[in-house]
Amino acid sequence: MSKLDFDAIVIGSGFGGAVSACRLAQKGRKVLVLERGRRWTPQNYPRAATDPWLWNQERPDRFHGWADLRAFSDMWVVAAAGVGGGSLIYANVSVEAKPEVFKRGWPQQITYEALRPHYEEVGRMLNVQEVPDNQLSQRTRLMREGAEACNWGGRFRKLPLAVRFDPDWNADRPDTRTSTNAHGKEQGTCVHCGNCDIGCQVSAKNTLDLNYLAEAERAGAEIRALHLVKKLEPMEKGWRVHFDMIDEQTGRLSPGNLSAENVFLAAGSIGSTELLLRCRDEHRTLPALSSRLGYGWAHNGDFVTPAFYKERMISPSHGVTISAAIDLLDNSGPDGQALFVEDGGIPNLAGHFLRKRLERLPRGKLRGFYKELRELVDDGDPLEHMMPWFGQAMEPGDGRLWLGRRWYAPWKRKLRMQWSFQRSQAVVESMIAAHKLLTEKTGGSAYVPQTWTFLRNLITPHPLGGCNMGLTPANGVVDAQGKVFGYAGLYVMDGAIIPRAIGLNPSRTIAALAERNIRQVIG
Ligand SMILES: Cc1cc2nc3c(=O)[nH]c(=O)nc-3n(C[C@H](O)[C@H](O)[C@H](O)COP(=O)(O)OP(=O)(O)OC[C@H]3O[C@@H](n4cnc5c(N)ncnc54)[C@H](O)[C@@H]3O)c2cc1C
Ligand code: SF4
Repeated sequence: MSKLDFDAIVIGSGFGGAVSACRLAQKGRKVLVLERGRRWTPQNYPRAATDPWLWNQERPDRFHGWADLRAFSDMWVVAAAGVGGGSLIYANVSVEAKPEVFKRGWPQQITYEALRPHYEEVGRMLNVQEVPDNQLSQRTRLMREGAEACNWGGRFRKLPLAVRFDPDWNADRPDTRTSTNAHGKEQGTCVHCGNCDIGCQVSAKNTLDLNYLAEAERAGAEIRALHLVKKLEPMEKGWRVHFDMIDEQTGRLSPGNLSAENVFLAAGSIGSTELLLRCRDEHRTLPALSSRLGYGWAHNGDFVTPAFYKERMISPSHGVTISAAIDLLDNSGPDGQALFVEDGGIPNLAGHFLRKRLERLPRGKLRGFYKELRELVDDGDPLEHMMPWFGQAMEPGDGRLWLGRRWYAPWKRKLRMQWSFQRSQAVVESMIAAHKLLTEKTGGSAYVPQTWTFLRNLITPHPLGGCNMGLTPANGVVDAQGKVFGYAGLYVMDGAIIPRAIGLNPSRTIAALAERNIRQVIG
């Protein structure tokens, strides 16, 4: 080998990064994975209020915790930080995109048929399965009932989940069953505790550290946690990757750099786009990057409408966070919109916080929905009666990420987003209408969040795009294999290259695309 430190450096260890690292290492390449977050385990998942919950990209010395919550104007984006990326925090839904999605906006090589074997491989690696019928939560039952009442019964289905279930589990025998998985890691089975978004303490979730990354390490890949990549620099032959190492205890940052023949960027939609923007516009190490960088960003239509049921226990903190969907993606949502309605759950800890807020509602002058809510508080635990109707949708994907300057510190560049609600309004209103109909038909009262009604703000856990695939640099940042236009040996392998909203949970598509692309790149 040349004098370079590695054959390949993979940046980020989420779906795109884990698949890439695994396949590169299995092909005998010398691979290094640089991951900004820590190595989380059931022993250190955040639980107490004082635990490290937050990641802050601008102050990683102070905040190098679980979740990166970015507030742009009118749009909030949430992502994970840690070895395993979004698989640590996600709700385990591992679902294929609809074949129709690939008919517009994608390079012609990327079709559902082309991805099908890779979807299957991801499903096998993540050991996806549905919640067994003897373990359905109250939310799943409510979903099914609502679907039938709205004449959507044929569209209701349980979702494929990357979770290990024990078919014999029941409330009288609520223990987990531990065994070694196909990748040599110890895992338990689901105990329906509802903590999926804050780390599974019995390792029933098939997170990437327990499969793809385990295989990558078994094949010789090295994973370095708490390494935040700051800059990419092309060399005569290969790449130099600059990073800050974060001391987990003190937060002290120490700079470092390493070289590799190829770099596979997989820092997520926001992370990969920000890093390339900084390399083009701030460090000026990659000036030839496409002018399309940052354009075509999608929020994927995520929306939650809480509904309350006076007479019914829903217990949203019990059961896997998401279990089922009502598939209206053939434009059969209200007003002809394409929706994928799901149940949502909330971890008990978040529930505790919400309960406290609800208890502070004043008695007396309340009307309508608030009056009902106050009555539920008086009757016991209002959260036990709440159904968070959730879902995704096809939306225009017209956001743009860019680097702006602060008026008080113009020498510093901050990641900003240009997105306005107008073009997404029809689809959001359609989702709200579907949620309201489901609520009404099942005897509840829906509560449309004021963050939408008054502020037109959205929050998404499913950011897509920013380094979109295209045919040429005039309409994309990378080609159909994820190769960055204008720079040999540099690839983007994650959700940043998905060129449009896909209207449902995207991790399976991101992983399948990475399977396809990495196999084509390494031959
Ligand atoms: C609460 C929540 C629930 C979700 N539920 C689901 C679900 O049920 N199903 C589904 O399909 N999707 C779900 N998602 C979305 C899913 O997690 C993402 O779509 C997916 O993880 C994106 O994969 P990725 O490879 O693009 O990036 P990620 O998985 O986000 O991985 C990027 C990695 O890069 C690291 N990184 C970022 N910047 C740097 C840097 N500069 N240097 C080094 N490392 C860096 C990050 O720490 C992270 O580990 C959920 C997301 C959230 C937040
Ligand atoms: S419900 Fe609990 S046990 Fe089951 S996968 Fe989620 S966190 Fe793990």
